[in-house]
Amino acid sequence: MKRHLLTVLLIVLSVFCCACNHPHTQLSFIAMDTYITLSADVNDGVLSSVRQKICSLSDALDFHNSGSALSILNQNAGGPVDGDLNTLLQLARQYANDTGGAFNPALGNIIRLWDIGGQNRLPAAAQINDALAHSQSGDWQIQDGQVSLQNGVQLDLGGIAKGYASDIALQMIEQAGGTSGLLSIGGNIAVLGSKNGDDWRIAIQHPETEQASIGTLSVCDCFVVTSGDYQRYFETNGKRYHHIFGQNGYPTDNSLRSVTVVTDSGAKADAYSTALFVMGLDQGLAFYNQKQDFEAIFITKDRSVTVTPGLRNRFTLQDGGYYYEN
Ligand code: AMP
Ligand code: MG
Repeated sequence: MKRHLLTVLLIVLSVFCCACNHPHTQLSFIAMDTYITLSADVNDGVLSSVRQKICSLSDALDFHNSGSALSILNQNAGGPVDGDLNTLLQLARQYANDTGGAFNPALGNIIRLWDIGGQNRLPAAAQINDALAHSQSGDWQIQDGQVSLQNGVQLDLGGIAKGYASDIALQMIEQAGGTSGLLSIGGNIAVLGSKNGDDWRIAIQHPETEQASIGTLSVCDCFVVTSGDYQRYFETNGKRYHHIFGQNGYPTDNSLRSVTVVTDSGAKADAYSTALFVMGLDQGLAFYNQKQDFEAIFITKDRSVTVTPGLRNRFTLQDGGYYYEN
């Protein structure tokens, strides 16, 4: 985890240095179990308010802290919600439906069982099946500010919370009059406006080499989120067990190393990148053709790179060992 944070930090800093010649204020801190860097053309006070907001979201959404608002819902099999938790859970429900349960915030029991990045357990099949029976996407609802969890479902918002936080942070900066900015919440990137009239160049993490990028994206006014099997994992007997779970309760095991999503909402980019990683390349491309509301880059274990049409002029591959699939 720490090594990954360093990688994110280095890549973000290298991007931020390009922005040093215009009056951006910058602020870096740790929250949401990750490294956060904010840079925008607003004053220090605005970025301090954004930090406070992100820290309060971090407290409310922490699955591992028994006192968080999310944990209290989990302990009580639901209850009333308002504000950000209400909005975020409605989005989570919608993306779970849209992705046919590939994005599944009801996986809390599975996530706790494996505890990737913590205890790093390799559970017995019976334990996984038991946890899976209490992790079904259809076993929770939210309506009129009331959440209901059935069948022991525990909600975990780790696959969407950082993206949602980037939405809120960007909104706050815009409301304060900001017109140009680059925010990174553990690699969940939000870009506002342009960089002196040019696109922002966003480095995409190399899936095999730490502290290196595989390519760059030239974009403005959008959110860029990557899910990958290198972000949080352990290895035993030559096999990697990472933090993104498929519908069988095991870490997803398909051809993908990473998926990057570019779209107009941080929460959507975050939920979709997790979901596409679970779906795999073919199903992911079918989902792309069906939805048409995002763009993506898929990188596979055999070093192929598939870029959806809207990003083909925007992505530059830097590693000659990888090849374009399309
Ligand atoms: P991300 O890095 O955004 O792809 O999200 C991974 C995190 O989301 C994990 O650390 C878990 O907390 C949670 N998670 C794992 N698998 C899923 C899934 N299939 N759907 C939704 N959230 C998941
Ligand atoms: Mg995600």
